[in-house]
This record gives sequence, C-alpha cells and structure tokens, in this order.
Amino acid sequence: MNIKTFIAGPIEANNYLLTDNDEAVLIDCSEVKPEILKELDGKKLKYILLTHGHFDHVLGVNGMREKTKAKVLINKNDVPRMEESASIMKTFGIQGIKTPTADNFINDGDIIKFGNTEIKAISTPGHTEGGMCYLVDGKLFSGDTLFKGTVGRCDLAGGDFKKICRSVKDILFKLDENTTVYTGHGPETTIKYEKMYNEIIS
Ligand SMILES: [Zn+2]
Repeated sequence: MNIKTFIAGPIEANNYLLTDNDEAVLIDCSEVKPEILKELDGKKLKYILLTHGHFDHVLGVNGMREKTKAKVLINKNDVPRMEESASIMKTFGIQGIKTPTADNFINDGDIIKFGNTEIKAISTPGHTEGGMCYLVDGKLFSGDTLFKGTVGRCDLAGGDFKKICRSVKDILFKLDENTTVYTGHGPETTIKYEKMYNEIIS
C-alpha cells in the first residue's frame, strides 16, 4: 500500500490518498485537487473516508464523487457538522458550495477493503461527536483528534474536552507504540512520541 499526502482546502488540511494495486481510498476531501485526480489516473477510487464533518475536511466531497464515483462514508453523528459546512463557508465569503453529502455511514470496528488492504474504523469522539480514526498497516489517520504534541480543539459545536481525552488516552494510546500517526493538520507523529510529549494528555 502507498500513501500520498496532499495539503488541501481553505485551512490546509491533510488529505491522504491510499493506493493498493489499482484501487484507492481518500481520507478526507477538502477540495477537488488536480494533483489527486492525476494520481488516480488508471485507478479506481473506491471510498472517501471522512474523519469528521468539519468544512475544511469535506468541501471537496461532492465534486470528487462526481469525478470518481467513489462512495463517501462518515459517522452518522457528524452529519450535522457536514450539513453546516456550506453555510460556514458563506460566512468566509465563499459562495456556491452545495452541502456535502455522504452515501453511507461508518461505525466503530467497521472494516473497509481496497486492493489487498484492510482499513479498520475507530470511533474517537471529542473534537466532534462522530470523529473517526482509521487504522491501516500500523498507520493511524487521526483527523483532528490527535495532532503532534496536542489534540483537536473542543470549543466548536459538538466538541467535548473530556471525551477527546478519553478517546486519545483509552483508545489511541492503547495502539502499538510504533504506530505512525498521520494527522488532519501539520506533521505526522507516533503513538510513542505522543505518550511522552503530548501537552494535553498526561
Ligand atoms: Zn475539525
């Protein structure tokens, strides 16, 4: 399996394109980035997996689905976050964005297959109600739940500081310490590094 990182959208979210043989999965979709489409040439994008519904992670969903026929999956609890994303963009002065929609819901423990690879969905509420992480081949895609040295903000709608602490400490910190963490913004990290240096979780 191959991982390519694309920094995309209005506030520089990380979108990750995972490819295995001729199939692919995109984790978060902040914009229809030409570089991502180019990378998909000759491959089938099976799924767009959303870590959560915040606008900066979902604004490319409708356009990308139109171009690739990928199925868009989100946790049901984050549908309200996704539904408000178009109106939030209006407040940023960006017009004409249709509300992003999902094709199906994803839940804790679900397994997503593409190529010869399996992705496990892990529910990690706190940054939002329906926040999800995705584990594949010893790599964790953490969305805005866990960042290098910190965690996602909890002061937006649906945020809950106690829950994010529980998600990180009781779920993510139980993963193998050598797990590489690909975050929703900024650099990657590891579970081992976060156990030692995370400023929020102690
Ligand atoms: Zn977010």
